Parts: sequence; C-alpha cells; structure tokens
Amino acid sequence: MLDALSKSFFHALAGSKRLEGMASRIGMARPTSFARRFIAGETAEEAIEAAKAIQARGLMLTLDQLGESITTLAVAAAATGIYLALIEKIRAAGIDRNISLKPTQLGLDIDPAVCVDNITKILDAATRHDFFVRIDMENTPYIQKTLDMFASVWSQGYRNAGVVLQSAVFRTEDDARAMSKLGARVRLVKGAYKEPAALAHQAKADVDQAFVRIMKLLLTEGTYPAIATHDPAMIAATKAFAAGQGIPKDAYEFQMLYGIRRDLQAQLAAEGYRMRIYVPFGKQWFPYFMRRLGERPANVGFVLKGILSDRG
Ligand SMILES: Cc1cc2nc3c(=O)[nH]c(=O)nc-3n(C[C@H](O)[C@H](O)[C@H](O)COP(=O)(O)OP(=O)(O)OC[C@H]3O[C@@H](n4cnc5c(N)ncnc54)[C@H](O)[C@@H]3O)c2cc1C
Repeated sequence: MLDALSKSFFHALAGSKRLEGMASRIGMARPTSFARRFIAGETAEEAIEAAKAIQARGLMLTLDQLGESITTLAVAAAATGIYLALIEKIRAAGIDRNISLKPTQLGLDIDPAVCVDNITKILDAATRHDFFVRIDMENTPYIQKTLDMFASVWSQGYRNAGVVLQSAVFRTEDDARAMSKLGARVRLVKGAYKEPAALAHQAKADVDQAFVRIMKLLLTEGTYPAIATHDPAMIAATKAFAAGQGIPKDAYEFQMLYGIRRDLQAQLAAEGYRMRIYVPFGKQWFPYFMRRLGERPANVGFVLKGILSDRG
C-alpha cells in the first residue's frame, strides 16, 4: 500500500514543470549535488568517466542517455543523432559496448513507424561496432507498442537488441514466454511505474512472487536473461534456482542501477556473478530521478540533506 502511495505521489510530482525547473538548476550544479547520487553527469564525457571507474571495479555497464516522452519528431531525430554520437564516444573510450534507450525518446508516442526508423539507424551502427542495445520498458500504455517495435526490428534480422519486461504487469508471463520462444534477450525488472490495478499487481509480495516465477522461466527457457534488481530476496532466489538447475554463472547476468547498493554490486562480482550497472546521464534526468525517489521514500531525506549542505 505504502509502495503504491509513494509511487503515485512521486509520479504526480514528476509532472510538475516548476519543480523540474527548480531541481534542474541545483540538482547537478556541483560535484556533491543531490542528483549525482543516481545520475552519472549531464554529459557523455562525465558518464564515460563514471563508466571507467565502474569497469575498474570489475563490473560491466550499459549507458543510458536520459530522455523520454518527447513531443516532436525533430526531437526524436535529435535523440537518434545523440545516440549515434554516443556509440562513437563509447568506441573511442574503449568501454563496454552496451547502451539502453527509451522508445518514447525516439518518437514511439508520436509515430511508431518513425520510431522504428530511428531505432534501425541506431541498430545499424550498433551492429557495425558490435554493441548491444537494450530497449527499456516504459509504462503500460507503451508495452504493446514497444513489443511491436521490437518484433519489427527482430523480423528485419537485428539480433543485437533486447527488451525489458516488468514482473508487476499481469501480461508479462505471456510476454516472457513469447520472447523466450523468439530467442530474444530479456531484462527482468519489477517495474518502476504507477500502474492501474486492472493491469498490474499492487502489492509488493505479488510483484515479488511474479518476479521469481518469471526469473525461473527466463533462466530455463530464455536467452541470456538479465535479472535486474537490488532486492536481496530476488537475488538469493535467482542464485539458488540457477545453482539447483546447474545453470552456469555466465548464462545470465545481474543488473543494478548506478548509485544503488554498491555494496551488493561488489559482493556479487566478487562471488563470480556477472554484474552490469545501468549508468544514466544527461540533462533530462528529472523523471528518472523522481522514479528513484518513489521506490524508496527514505531517499528524500538524503536529497534534503544534500540540498541543505550544498547551499553555502
Ligand atoms: C538495470 C535496471 C534497469 C531497469 N530498467 C527498467 C525499465 O526499463 N523499466 C522499468 O519499469 N523499470 C526499470 N528498472 C527499475 C525497476 O523496475 C525497479 O523500479 C527498481 O529496480 C527497484 O526495484 P527492486 O527490484 O530493486 O526492488 P525493491 O523491492 O523496490 O527494492 C529492494 C531493495 O533495493 C534497494 N533499492 C531499491 N530501489 C532503491 C532506490 N531507488 N534507492 C535506494 N535503494 C533502493 C533497497 O535496499 C530496497 O529495499 C530497472 C532497474 C534496473 C536495476
């Protein structure tokens, strides 16, 4: 209940342009500013520096140029160009060739066909340079459209892309089966959005039970799944199931978000598990940041402390 309330509250705040303007001015202004806990910087250069430090800790990474829900095709074209430039910058830096992007950033909301064209351009460059492209999953109005877009690029022969599925959402078990049949790589998450009760589990216990069921399905029937969670119970269930089934540690990977549970990230890597960190950066960090606060209201105290100590 508290989970659902806190998600709704932060979801509502995330829509406030006034708050966004205010936060954007101060949240990343200094090296110690509050948003830097979850965002690796506003530029690709800053993110690449953070990425190098992550790789030096023996972890893998995926870079995400933040942006979503854009409203014109010109902005979607610009976002596509930014991703193409990012591919070049990652190559030059010699870091992990793995990126994540949001379909509404590439125009899914405005014209799905243009979105497919945009993602195809990115996948072409990614194929040339041996990158993997993860297509993030947004809220329920976009699930079918995102999977349709994915089906379209898959049918064109692109195999260097994968999707994200959310255990909170009722339809996900069917989608996980379909993706496994296809041979597509899935990142399993709980789901970051406030969803209606008609479409998604509301109680944490139900989201968690679904997560475990789908994790088992993906580990046995899927292709190199990514189990993306900071929840020690989900991680323990995954380790135990994989060990019991004799599934080797390199047949799947764990993923966590930049700045969250660094201790657990290091511990899993030290135990020999593959651990990838999702590294978000860019000027459009506010909605992403608000979702992180909604997941854990205790983070608000951390932000307030940061703002107060940053004032001087
Ligand atoms: C690599 C990666 C990619 C993702 N991509 C997507 C996506 O495409 N679409 C989507 O809907 N969601 C995505 N998510 C977010 C996901 O859906 C969850 O909202 C988020 O991971 C929190 O859920 P949890 O599994 O960690 O479990 P929870 O039950 O929420 O949390 C378990 C524990 O993790 C820690 N924790 C969790 N969140 C935070 C936080 N914000 N700050 C501090 N500690 C925290 C706390 O210790 C908490 O007790 C992604 C998550 C990861 C790790």
